[in-house]
Amino acid sequence: EMALRACGFIVFRRLASCVPPPDNIEYLLLQTSYGKHHWTPPKGHVDPGEDDLTTALRETKEEAGLGPEHLRVIKDFVQELHYEVRGKPKDVLYWLAELRDPGTAVTLSDEHQDFRWARLEEACALAEYKEMQDTLRAAQKYLVALQDK
Ligand code: AMP
Repeated sequence: EMALRACGFIVFRRLASCVPPPDNIEYLLLQTSYGKHHWTPPKGHVDPGEDDLTTALRETKEEAGLGPEHLRVIKDFVQELHYEVRGKPKDVLYWLAELRDPGTAVTLSDEHQDFRWARLEEACALAEYKEMQDTLRAAQKYLVALQDK
């Protein structure tokens, strides 16, 4: 049996404030309007024949109103999550994408009822699932290592 497959982006922005790094990094989480109203980065199912990165870009545009022109995609960072949804295995791939202009507005679709830009610890608390928390921590580690170079 084939696993469900979804792709998305851990979208982050860097605030140009007096907050010292890495706490100037904020992650975008969307709260679903379905199910248990969990918080997730933008992502969605891969259409037949669709390229994974194309899916991630399409879903981020649909769910957050952020298109390729708003994002700096970091293809070198990718994390794969596996979980079961109603007994069916699901694979989710996340790349990293930085919001070019941290002031760009987020526009939700009907699939979500709220969104938040959150620092790592708040993002992990919202994300709730262990794999998602590990993914956010890995993203932060990657970004801090980049900044320190
Ligand atoms: P989603 O894949 O985010 O559309 O969510 C589909 C279902 O899977 C919902 O019931 C979520 O609560 C659940 N879910 C979402 N992410 C995870 C995860 N990382 N681990 C386990 N269950 C999850």
